[in-house]
Amino acid sequence: MQTGHSQCDAIVIAVTDYREADLLVTFFSLEHGKLRGIARNARKSRKRFGGALELFARLQLQVVVQEGLCPISSADIVTVFPRIRQDLAKIGHAGYACELTDRLLPEGMRNPRMFRLLVSYLDQLDQAAVNSSDRRFFEVNLLNILGYRLPIDHCAECGALLEGASGEHFARRGDGLLCSACGRGGRTIRAATVALLRRTMQTGRFGIVRFLPDELAEAGELVDGAITAHLNRPLRSLAFLHEMTRLERVPATPAAAIMLDTGGEKR
Ligand SMILES: [Zn+2]
Repeated sequence: MQTGHSQCDAIVIAVTDYREADLLVTFFSLEHGKLRGIARNARKSRKRFGGALELFARLQLQVVVQEGLCPISSADIVTVFPRIRQDLAKIGHAGYACELTDRLLPEGMRNPRMFRLLVSYLDQLDQAAVNSSDRRFFEVNLLNILGYRLPIDHCAECGALLEGASGEHFARRGDGLLCSACGRGGRTIRAATVALLRRTMQTGRFGIVRFLPDELAEAGELVDGAITAHLNRPLRSLAFLHEMTRLERVPATPAAAIMLDTGGEKR
């Protein structure tokens, strides 16, 4: 970790009230990776930070990088992703993406690819309707970038390359898949779904890979299992996300904003 004063390009990935008037702000920066910051008096005096320290806002931060809490001296808004904030389902997805990033990313390690992925997903949510294929695109690439690539390339038993024509199925075992010689029956996954998951990791752009509903269900089961395997406890934002996905495109209400405000993890 390079310590000292720094200006950084950062996304707020968690916010929690702290003591009388402070805010604890976990942010993911292009320059230093994930850091835990403290904004003193941010709740008492709105002058200094002007309400910039909101979940999933993209900011230019002036910060002292050090071990432990990093004091934040100023925050300029690059974008708050205004169209996400008008839509509960979008808020749910953006909050989920931030929590997942917070929980899986180690502190103080630069990861520009991961930074670009999170920014691209927030841009996509800001500009287009919520789409479950995009959520899976984010998750699959996040796992891949963090070194937890889905084990979908080779047979978990014999190591053979998994190739299947569309219409074929692979048997599943644990997290892995089996070739037709090693496994039949039981839980299966379409070769077409596996091909889409691989394609997801080959393109950096949102909106290109689109899963059909059946493929989405299969891919979701595989991806959810892989994410759960790397978490020590469930994500808080997931219940909210499920709820918001059910209520399609309801405009945000003040009540939702309050929920989001206090949704940060108490530390
Ligand atoms: Zn095999």
